[in-house]
Amino acid sequence: MRNAGLGSWPHRRARMAPKREAFTYNGVSTSYGEVAARTTKLAHQLRELGVRQGDRVAYLGQNHPSFAETMFAAHQLGAIFVPLNFRLSPAEITYQLADCGARVLIHAPSHVTEHPRAISLDAYEDWLSAGSDEPLDEPVSIDEPALILYTSGTTGRPKGAVLTHANLLWNTFNLMIGVDVATDDVALVAAPLFHVAALTQTLLPTFIKGGHSVIVPRWDVDECLDVIQGYGVTWMFGVATMYADLAASPRWPSADVSSLRVLLCGGASVPDAVIHAYQERDLVFCQGYGLTETAPGATFLEAADSVRKAGSAGPPVFFGDLRLADTGEIEVQGPNVTPGYWNDPVATAAAFTADGWFRTGDLGRLDDGHLHVVDRLKDMFISGGENVYPAEVENAITDHPDVVEVAVVGVPDTRWGEVGRAFVRPREGAVVDAVALREFLLPRLAKYKIPVHVQIVDELPRTGSGKVLKPALRGLPL
Ligand code: ATP
Repeated sequence: MRNAGLGSWPHRRARMAPKREAFTYNGVSTSYGEVAARTTKLAHQLRELGVRQGDRVAYLGQNHPSFAETMFAAHQLGAIFVPLNFRLSPAEITYQLADCGARVLIHAPSHVTEHPRAISLDAYEDWLSAGSDEPLDEPVSIDEPALILYTSGTTGRPKGAVLTHANLLWNTFNLMIGVDVATDDVALVAAPLFHVAALTQTLLPTFIKGGHSVIVPRWDVDECLDVIQGYGVTWMFGVATMYADLAASPRWPSADVSSLRVLLCGGASVPDAVIHAYQERDLVFCQGYGLTETAPGATFLEAADSVRKAGSAGPPVFFGDLRLADTGEIEVQGPNVTPGYWNDPVATAAAFTADGWFRTGDLGRLDDGHLHVVDRLKDMFISGGENVYPAEVENAITDHPDVVEVAVVGVPDTRWGEVGRAFVRPREGAVVDAVALREFLLPRLAKYKIPVHVQIVDELPRTGSGKVLKPALRGLPL
């Protein structure tokens, strides 16, 4: 095959084991042979709409096998796949479509967006089946762009991080080395696919090994428990909030989750209480650290060390390096690191050090070569001259048995410069009292770290990938 990129994966897999199940969605399975045939038809249909090498094909919708099919089809043509966050406002989506200059948009009927060449998923099956079966073999090098992923915007206007086929391939290798992905693995794809991790930390490594991905439209604790039990799921990826919700489910204590061999967690700080909830049930809970720009795995804690080094995000991935700048900022290098941002040479130049390391914007510390992510540089605040890292405070608060989730931000204060403000989501049915909570924290945290303001909330504002949107919290009046 002249196509060395991801577009060739369905065909490479299909010639090895065409009958194996690749995807299951809503009880319907698609084999590797079918995925290969369908992506060829789709690629022809995309070409009919004018898609050529280097063009952008956007996708807007919840998790669905058509996400992966459209991506592989675009890659068959050497086009770039642009997954969009369906939780964004129409104006934000319009901005991203214009920024990347998408030639075609595939979208869920519920997400209608003006675009001259839009295909609704309502019409997708008919459109696909009208495509030609003629094999395609566009020459595609692994150094060409494969994805543009708009960062979730917790830091301002989204930038389109470009990932090449090589970036994704190396990340896949790193993940397979870390997790030991096997052909008989069954992965649960429950985090949103438009966010890099669900795609690259579950779907792609499972696919390359010929394993089975069970895709659910969105994270729903009950549905995911049913899928884990019904399909014998062996591994999954989630952010800490997902795992906190799962462990807080009334079904969790009695659920049969014996098929799970590893749970991967990353994307945001992981409170100790969440790790303990899984260790208590003898489940292997592995934390990793990374960013969209690193495809995303930069570090990974292997199963063998998941108890001994619990709380750490592990050493650098096999093909990747990490160092700490004098400021404590984590810098990374490796074949998984983005070449830069789409059409944004200024942001690209700012993201790298003079000697070519990627600046993550996160603070870390190393313990025996294992990374502990301290916090985002920009989330740290200064109270009475002392640095406060909200992640540390959040970790202490989630030790409280009645707290499911918390977010801490710094807010202006006339006396101390800044003080902490905590937004606390209690366990269902539980009452958390602000004064009692501060007392609970007194033996656990230095006084200046204890939030002065505590607000009890039903939910926290989130980015599409499930992370807490701290800028939205900072802006709330006291
Ligand atoms: P934006 O770049 O727009 O602010 P984002 O930072 O959420 O959005 P992502 O690429 O989705 O973009 O997430 C990467 C960030 O997630 C990292 O920079 C880091 O702050 C955080 N993160 C990832 N893994 C971990 C971890 N294990 N512990 C703590 N934080 C983590």
